[in-house]
Formats: sequence, structure tokens, C-alpha cells
Amino acid sequence: MNLIPLPAFSDNYIWLLHHNGRALVVDPGDAQPVLNALASAGWVLDAILVTHHHPDHVGGVAALTAATPAKVYGPANEKMPPGVIALKQGETASWQGVDFQVIDVPGHTAGHIAFFGQPPGMEPVLFCGDTLFSGGCGRLFEGTPAQMLHSLERLAELPGTTQVCCAHEYTLSNLKFAKHIEPTNLDLSAYETHCQDLRAKGLPTLPSHLDLELKVNPFLRSRQPSVRASLQHCTPTPIDDADYFAALRQWKNDYR
Ligand SMILES: [Zn+2]
Ligand SMILES: [Zn+2]
Repeated sequence: MNLIPLPAFSDNYIWLLHHNGRALVVDPGDAQPVLNALASAGWVLDAILVTHHHPDHVGGVAALTAATPAKVYGPANEKMPPGVIALKQGETASWQGVDFQVIDVPGHTAGHIAFFGQPPGMEPVLFCGDTLFSGGCGRLFEGTPAQMLHSLERLAELPGTTQVCCAHEYTLSNLKFAKHIEPTNLDLSAYETHCQDLRAKGLPTLPSHLDLELKVNPFLRSRQPSVRASLQHCTPTPIDDADYFAALRQWKNDYR
């Protein structure tokens, strides 16, 4: 099996897995990049995974289901296009012998889900939509800081080798903020240099890996003393875990 990020809009990626002439895509906000990839390679699209209801993730679903035999799997607790098979925590979407486990990750939206699978011959893959980004996390449009913290901690329990397939190329701006929070984190500086090189060549910084994110992503590190030291003078003064996470997310919202 092979994994490819198809660029869409200004900074989205539509993740595509293919095997034996069959393809699966994740969060096709736009049908055209998918149709182009299918046409040029001669693949048949037979599955679509959707993580949440935002238009840049579902906008291409209707056109793709009209043009292909694809089954569509999406979150049970969000408004989805007609015909989407509704899934929640603990359920699976199967494609080409791979069972993608559904993990409920509310926060960015109220019913956001992620998909985790172990395709043969590959490191595990996590399709996390707008919940976990490399060096960052999604904005809290519908959920609370405590929900997002819990969602990210669920994802953090997955194997360290997991390929983190985020839906947006936000890595460099996230790392700029992350360095502001943890200026002495050497893993972070090295990763930023690596990502700058990739972007200078026009390449994606994704997928990332979970073990790396645990070393560099402040939103997975909000219990670390180095992160808390940067947050302790925020107002209101953080007291519990959710307060620290909320202060971090708010700071990122305001950071330019
Ligand atoms: Zn979104
Ligand atoms: Zn998005």
C-alpha cells in the first residue's frame, strides 16, 4: 500500500491510500484533485473517510460518490452529506483488508473523529483531520479545552511509529509558536530546520510521526514543566491541566 498527500485549496491535504488499483481518500474537500489522481493512475476509488463536517473536508464528497463506487464513512455525531455511513468510537471502516478504528476526538468540532489503521507493509497511519497538526492542534470551534486535551491524549497513546496524517500544512507557523513556548527544546529547533528544508523544495512536511510530535508539539506537552513555565504568568492564572491547555490554545490564537 502507498500513501500520498494530494494538495487542495491553499493548505489542505487530501490523503490517498492505494493498493492493487484501488484507492481510498480522506477528507476530500475538493473532488478535482482526487479525480485527476484517479484518472492519471487508473485507480478506482472505493472508500472515502471523513473526519468532520467542515466544507474543506466534505465539499468534494457528493461529486466523488456521483463519479465513483466509493462508500463514505463519517462521524455519527455530525451533519454529513446523504449516504454517509455513520461511525463512532470503537467502530471500524474496512478497506482492502485494513480495519480503520474510529477514535472520538471532540474539540475542533463536537463530533470530530479520527481513523487509525495498520496497512500491511507500512507504519501505522492516523488520519486526524483538524485535531492534531504537526507542532499544533486545531482551533476549538465547538469543544472545550478539556475535551481537546483528552482527545489529544487519546491520540498520544497510539504507537510512536504512527504516521500522523494531518489535513493542513500548518507546520512551520506552528513550530514558530512552539519555539516561543519552548525556546530551549533542541528537538524542536532541529525539526524546524528539517521542515524549512522540505518547504523550500516545495515538499510537504507531512506525514509526521507520533514519537516526534511528543517531543516537539506543545499541545501534546502541556504537562511538561518547560511548557508550564511559559504559561504560568497567563491570565487567568492556570491551576489545573485544562487551564494550562486553555492558556496555551488562547496564546496560539492571539500569536502572530
Ligand atoms: Zn475543520
Ligand atoms: Zn480543515
